[in-house]
Amino acid sequence: MLKLKDVSKYYYQDGVVAKGITKVSLELFIGEFVVITGESGSGKSTLLNVLSGLDTYEDGEMYINGKETSHYTEEDYQNYRRRYVSNIFQNFNLVNSYTVYENIELAMLMNGKNRSEVKRKVDELINKVGLKKYRNTKTSKLSGGQKQRVAIARALANNTPIIVADEPTGSLDSEASKGILKLLKEISENKLVIVVTHNKKEIEEYATRLIRMHDGKLLENKVINKVNLDSEVVENDVKEITNISKFKLSLKNAFNIPVKFVLMFVIFLLISLTLITNYGSLKMAEFEESETAYNQYFLNSSDKRIVLTKNDKSIFNDNDYNNIKKIDTIDYIVKNDLLNDLELNVYNDYVYMYGKVYLKKIDKVDVGRLPSNDNEIVLIGSKDSYYLTNMKDNIIDKFFTVSDEAIEHVKVVGIVYNENMIDGNYEYYLSDILLDKISNSLYERYSKTSFVLDNNYYTDVFMRIDDTLKDGEVIVKDTLNNICENNSCLNKDIKINVNNIYFTEELNLKITKTYNKNSNNYDEYTDYVYVSQNDYNKLYNKGNYQMSVFLREVKDLEITLKSLHDLGYNTLALRDAKVDEVKELLQIFKIFKLVITIILIITLFFITYFIIKIIYKSRNSYYTTLRSLGGTKKNSISILRNELVILATFTYTLLLITIILVNKNIINIEYFKEISKYISNTDYLIVYLILLLLSILISNRYGRKIFKDSIIKTYGDR
Ligand code: ADP
Ligand code: MG
Repeated sequence: MLKLKDVSKYYYQDGVVAKGITKVSLELFIGEFVVITGESGSGKSTLLNVLSGLDTYEDGEMYINGKETSHYTEEDYQNYRRRYVSNIFQNFNLVNSYTVYENIELAMLMNGKNRSEVKRKVDELINKVGLKKYRNTKTSKLSGGQKQRVAIARALANNTPIIVADEPTGSLDSEASKGILKLLKEISENKLVIVVTHNKKEIEEYATRLIRMHDGKLLENKVINKVNLDSEVVENDVKEITNISKFKLSLKNAFNIPVKFVLMFVIFLLISLTLITNYGSLKMAEFEESETAYNQYFLNSSDKRIVLTKNDKSIFNDNDYNNIKKIDTIDYIVKNDLLNDLELNVYNDYVYMYGKVYLKKIDKVDVGRLPSNDNEIVLIGSKDSYYLTNMKDNIIDKFFTVSDEAIEHVKVVGIVYNENMIDGNYEYYLSDILLDKISNSLYERYSKTSFVLDNNYYTDVFMRIDDTLKDGEVIVKDTLNNICENNSCLNKDIKINVNNIYFTEELNLKITKTYNKNSNNYDEYTDYVYVSQNDYNKLYNKGNYQMSVFLREVKDLEITLKSLHDLGYNTLALRDAKVDEVKELLQIFKIFKLVITIILIITLFFITYFIIKIIYKSRNSYYTTLRSLGGTKKNSISILRNELVILATFTYTLLLITIILVNKNIINIEYFKEISKYISNTDYLIVYLILLLLSILISNRYGRKIFKDSIIKTYGDR
């Protein structure tokens, strides 16, 4: 079964060479009970380790089942060990954080045994070695003799034809030793059992072959009892460890050593928190940057806004509106574009608010109620606004003046908080009637109006509507009489001219009346010209030459522009038409911040990496034990990786739950609340992916290290 020919093994340590065994030749067969004796340091353990494939040899040849092994790779040795050899180590090499049951079970799981056959067999073995009472005791709590029995039970868990025991009775009293030896003898029936001892007396009665060693050489190799050497070799039936077993081991390992668990929890928590806060503040800077951008001509410079005119500069009609409505990336349309850029101030003796008109429909308010009368409005603004929060009781149901001549007094009936708005900016939600009033006078405000009367030319004229007038009739202030012939302008022709960026209009009317100080239309400072509603509309309200559409999402800008061009419109996307004077400075700041963040993340990554590596160095013996029980590199790495992933997921989930509770105001951590405003779900996912990446890198690096040298050398490194 096993044959050595002039095999030598040397140890190299700190430049010194020690010989383990020199030129050992030997042949062992299935069915034998081999006892190796010799004084301490004579090479017994070295010989055992070479025979069982736990360590490499330098010189000579070793044959397994007649096959030469000098070309064997670690994988070949692994295969040999799994199929043929079970070890009982001098220092047990048990997993101290596992119970007796779990230690024995581990040997079977690593070779792909399924759980039902495992349970029966493990309990049977526990009874056999007399540890029923300690089935669920952690092996760290057992005495040396009890540990030895666990080690023996574990060696018997797999049906390997070779069992190798290094001083198995070393720490047992003579009574217990006898029991153990009897056990070994019993199972040696059709196996090869190799036992090392320096107390050969108690074992002699069982031995079929006696080997004596001295100074690394065989001194004696004597067959005591001839055995039937024809016994057939029955290999251990091995499979890959199942995924369920792997996962269960990982889960157990993640939590069963409290100190390690707490350390890992803290490390994963720190790295998640650092990543999230950095991400958050980076986003915050980005957000603040876009707030400083503006457009000189458009007050509403929302990134979602697109301004439209028709290619032929004509008026938009119903057909246009219907076609535009069909583009589903568009959220809403503002037909009278001038409304978007109207500055509107609302004030009374105590409060003064700057703002613009809100042009979408709203269906609920945070404070107060929705408007039910024409002169009622709702205020929209930041929650940080002193007016809207601290002073809200002094605002609701109060009357205010509006800085628009078309509107006089309004009553504030509701407040809506918008967290995207900056403190100090306000928007006003108005009834349709109020909007129409403003809308009607807008073109006049954006036009130049002049008139010609008796060859005199007047500019900067203010027009008003008088419902009592017929079309074609005009009323002017009596002070105009001074410039007309005979000091009277009555029945004179007046030519009114309107000029703006969209159109020019000219209307010939007749002055039918004048008004004076006593008239209720009188205004001391302004010389209003009154016309009928119809004539006013002819001059100004010709329809919309320009409108704006607003996107649902800024990311849809490109495709929406294309659709609009295809329909025949000129477009101006406000996102691309903004200036930002502080942008360059901020850009530099942002790049600087990005670089710092990246350096920080990389540094953090490596610090974490090394800390975790140090923590896991204490796990060397665990993973070497897995390996000695048949764990392949791939499986050992994936058990470690799963463990790290479980720990990372556990920690991150707790963190996310905390953030959710903070956002629901169940826990109050102001800092989290502020930061989490700027972090999207994708960002949370990215942080999680970084944790996963860390787990994968660490497990791969660590796994390679554990498998770099022979099992014996790796155990020695602990
Ligand atoms: P035994 O088991 O009979 O006590 P060993 O096989 O352990 O003997 O040791 C044989 C020789 O090899 C001894 O001289 C010992 O010092 C040396 N040796 C064993 N293991 C190592 C090691 N890991 N590094 C260096 N020398 C070693
Ligand atoms: Mg030894």
